[in-house]
Amino acid sequence: MVTATNILYSVAAARRILGIYYPEIKVSIQVWAKVVLVISDGRRPRFISKKVFHQHFVDWRKEQAKALVVQRHHLLHSSFNVVNPKKDSMYRVVACKDALHCECEDYKNQIGFWGKAMCKHSFAALDFIGYRSFADYLAAQQVAAA
Ligand SMILES: [Zn+2]
Repeated sequence: MVTATNILYSVAAARRILGIYYPEIKVSIQVWAKVVLVISDGRRPRFISKKVFHQHFVDWRKEQAKALVVQRHHLLHSSFNVVNPKKDSMYRVVACKDALHCECEDYKNQIGFWGKAMCKHSFAALDFIGYRSFADYLAAQQVAAA
């Protein structure tokens, strides 16, 4: 089950951050107050700042977004179909003034935990419409509304 803690601090994220890709190497984590202790076979235990995990959370979704294909909806200008060719899946992303909304699980989980969300689909749509970051998108919406 995805929780507010393990969506950010996971063994999978620890593996990616440390570059431990061999499944034979066992990795476990302990989430402390400000750091995550990563324990793996044959390596010294490592403390990783939670900030590193937070940045990885965003970077990883941006990275995954690169493999997605975005098509603007033929009638609704602010609506996008975001296709994952590998999985043959599609999610609808709708760009509003103050947020990009997606219908995927990751997005729903983040909204549930924090009241805001950016999933790989919304990052792909953001890139498609020419924004490098969500902050840039928000700033442009405010200029347009003024
Ligand atoms: Zn999504």
